[in-house]
Amino acid sequence: MTGTVPHDSDGPAVNAADLRRLIGPQVVCVRGPSRSGKTTMCQLLIGALAERGVKAAYLKRTHHLLDLPEKSSGRIWANGPAAMVLRATDRLQVTLPPGDGTADDLLAHVPGAADIVLLETHEPEPYPTILSRLLDPTQAAPVIGSWDIETIEAAAASFVPSLLALLPADRDLDRHLRSALGFHGGHGCPGVVLGTRLALLAGQELGLELPDRQKRLSVAVESDRCAADAIQAVTGCRVGKRTFRVIDHGKLAARFLDTATGRAIRVAARTGTRAIAEGRYPDMDGPEAQLRAYIELPPETLFSVAPVAWEQNEFDLPGKPRRRVECASCGEEVIDGRDVPGPDGPLCRLCAGLE
Ligand SMILES: [Zn+2]
Ligand SMILES: [Zn+2]
Repeated sequence: MTGTVPHDSDGPAVNAADLRRLIGPQVVCVRGPSRSGKTTMCQLLIGALAERGVKAAYLKRTHHLLDLPEKSSGRIWANGPAAMVLRATDRLQVTLPPGDGTADDLLAHVPGAADIVLLETHEPEPYPTILSRLLDPTQAAPVIGSWDIETIEAAAASFVPSLLALLPADRDLDRHLRSALGFHGGHGCPGVVLGTRLALLAGQELGLELPDRQKRLSVAVESDRCAADAIQAVTGCRVGKRTFRVIDHGKLAARFLDTATGRAIRVAARTGTRAIAEGRYPDMDGPEAQLRAYIELPPETLFSVAPVAWEQNEFDLPGKPRRRVECASCGEEVIDGRDVPGPDGPLCRLCAGLE
């Protein structure tokens, strides 16, 4: 999810390594030489985590062929398809070109539903590591614990609490943060976290599950910066669906209308939260302190909520355009009642000089 997209909205973002510790599945390396029991360790951990409702993804690089050459999938792959999707009764397997083999490249393929990622590796990687006793620790990677092949089952069981401790306190929030971060191009900025929290608070206040699959929600944001992307990602509301609009008042606030009940609220960021965040984490850079604090602080510290009047005009509703005319001057079509009367018929706002 992290990348090198230039960040041009509201200031600096948190660097990729710090961001990965704050948002997204935590990555744990299971590192050892050949035949040290790495795969057995991963197998034991995946099972133990699954028993606790934690979904682990498994990553590994191999130098072996994935298919025997005489297998039909091997013959197909040898002819260079763009991708190969094979569905057997017990799994679906997607085969893609190998990529650059970096951990980031592998991690980019992990689906959003994973809570934690186990990366089986020979080489050190900069993630918390479960280490075979046959290898020495490196400085770059904190060691969770070490195992001997003879006592591997007991060792695996003893690592589970440390893995659980790496999971975010609020896994639901973490999933929404990941989707917001993806929608925002991968740069982790405080605005994305605030927008995510703001939208989730609105959903909670209105009693709506997010993203809104029932098509009940309409959103108007009051500025066109980072938080607006997060609010779109979390709510599922979009400009092109006529469920999301920007009224640019330059404020980190948004209005939410439940079209089924007519109830509307405005959620606004409180001032002073930046100082609270930096006071909470004085040793960190501003964006990281803010990002961490905005994940943790209670919603009432971050936002105010108030009812707001919101009458929907029939021309603002989703669905087919309700009016379609041609401008009497330029001949271009104008929909949704955005035309204005002119001496020789309806005019678009440009021709009427109203832009
Ligand atoms: Zn941003
Ligand atoms: Zn015109």
